[in-house]
Amino acid sequence: MTAAITIMRAKVDGDHIMSAERAGVLFNQRGGGSHRITVALIAAFLMVAVFTIDTFTEIEGAIAVLYVIVLLLSSEVLTRMGLLLALAGCIFLTILSYFLTHGPDPDLQTFIRLAVSLAALTITMALLLRNDAFRDELIARNAEIRESEARYRSIFDGARVALWERDYSQLRTHLMGLKASGVSDLEEHARRHPEVIDDCIGLLRTVAANEAARELLGTTSAGKVSNSMVHFIAAGDQTFLHVMNAIFNGQSYFEGKGTITTDSGEIKQVLLSISFPEDIAAFNRVVVGMVDITQREMTEAALVEARAEFAKASKAATIGALSASLAHELNQPLGAIAVNAQTLLRWLDRDPPDLSAIRRSAERIIRDGQRASDIIHNTRNLLTQQESKAEWIDLATLIDETHSLVEHDLKRDGITVTVRPGEGVPRVKSVRVEIQQVMINLMTNAIQAINGAKCPVREIVVEIQPVDGMVGVSVKDSGPGISPEGMEKLFTPFYTTKAEGLGMGLSICRSTLESRGGKLDGFNHPDGGAVFKMTLPIEDPHL
Ligand code: ADP
Repeated sequence: MTAAITIMRAKVDGDHIMSAERAGVLFNQRGGGSHRITVALIAAFLMVAVFTIDTFTEIEGAIAVLYVIVLLLSSEVLTRMGLLLALAGCIFLTILSYFLTHGPDPDLQTFIRLAVSLAALTITMALLLRNDAFRDELIARNAEIRESEARYRSIFDGARVALWERDYSQLRTHLMGLKASGVSDLEEHARRHPEVIDDCIGLLRTVAANEAARELLGTTSAGKVSNSMVHFIAAGDQTFLHVMNAIFNGQSYFEGKGTITTDSGEIKQVLLSISFPEDIAAFNRVVVGMVDITQREMTEAALVEARAEFAKASKAATIGALSASLAHELNQPLGAIAVNAQTLLRWLDRDPPDLSAIRRSAERIIRDGQRASDIIHNTRNLLTQQESKAEWIDLATLIDETHSLVEHDLKRDGITVTVRPGEGVPRVKSVRVEIQQVMINLMTNAIQAINGAKCPVREIVVEIQPVDGMVGVSVKDSGPGISPEGMEKLFTPFYTTKAEGLGMGLSICRSTLESRGGKLDGFNHPDGGAVFKMTLPIEDPHL
């Protein structure tokens, strides 16, 4: 039973839906439902009335033409399909009435009246259908425009960039008027007549502003962005003049930085961009974009200041480091000069004086003096950024020379040096005094490490080897090796474990080598002692 009721209900519902669908096919959606019914009833009544008059009265004439009124009324409420059915109905009634009135043998006159009525109905129908098509197209276009407007609005309102729609039409007309009156250079004209800028600002009108724009400039008490721009343009700001110039010269867009004053009186830096339309009529709604760059500008200014401070500080640090380096580097030749001068005096005090020994000491003094002079010269070059003189260096010879430079210390401390020049080691092109300085530092450190730990084995081994297209020189000592802390800070400036040390030697050596395309590493040898290994390119790419 329930199932039967359900089936019946479904059938009733189905019938409703079908009749509603049918109604949807015949009736359009314009106007309300009651309006449609009223118009449909009037049209049906008229149809019956015209048929009655046409069939049952003696009035001569094309009464059927009045069906046109039925069609015109129906077009208000019917779809195309409905209209075609209505037309079919009107034609059917016209022909029926014709046969009922005039029988099977009508005269020519009545036949022409019939033809005129049918033609009038068909033409009306054609016009109505065309009108309907136009109307549909218009509605579709309207919907498209409305949709595009809504899309534009939602982008405009939702954008996080401050946007305004401004009316530039009056300003443009004014500027073109100035041009027509003979002004060719607007900026020059504004310099001579400064009031022109204020006049022009007064011609601008704000049509709309988005939320970001309201946040940027602030709003009036009514919550609206002020219509006029006058009080937003900061005093002395030339950006507006540049905007005027862009319009004056017919540019298609303007971009520039400017200063504005917000409603609360705050001064802000902004990036302004305006696209001017090609169509002059569209100058009444020009979109203006602004990005607040106050923070960025402030950060940039702070950065410039910080950079200047840093440059000052690093200059001071460089001078400090160079003084420390000079003191460190000159220590060795000056010490050697003092020692050789004392030796020379001792030879002089002999009776008779040992002239050949005196000569040797004097020669050593001259050599060390020359080295000290080279160091100073090189440092001066560094300071004045002059290129140091590069030359081809045979590392084995250079190491021999270095050996003789520290010979005095080696002899004093009973340390032997073994040099192992590898097979087929190429010469390197570099700055001799720099490489020698590095070697002296490494040898002096090795001597001091062996001395400091009072090691029974007292030797330094220098090896020269070709490595991967470069040349490597390692200085291994029999000292205590590098401490764990030293491993981390070895090349850090001012790191030293020596009472008299400066802690600059290794950091200067590394940076010297790196600036010449080489490198310097320090590690502990598995058999004990420290190894410092420098690597040099065969030809310094920086020279
Ligand atoms: P300084 O010799 O003035 O201390 P360096 O930069 O030449 O400056 O050396 C830094 C530190 O590295 C030294 O104080 C020392 O602790 C460590 N060091 C350098 N060479 C050796 C070495 N051959 N063996 C062990 N430690 C070393």
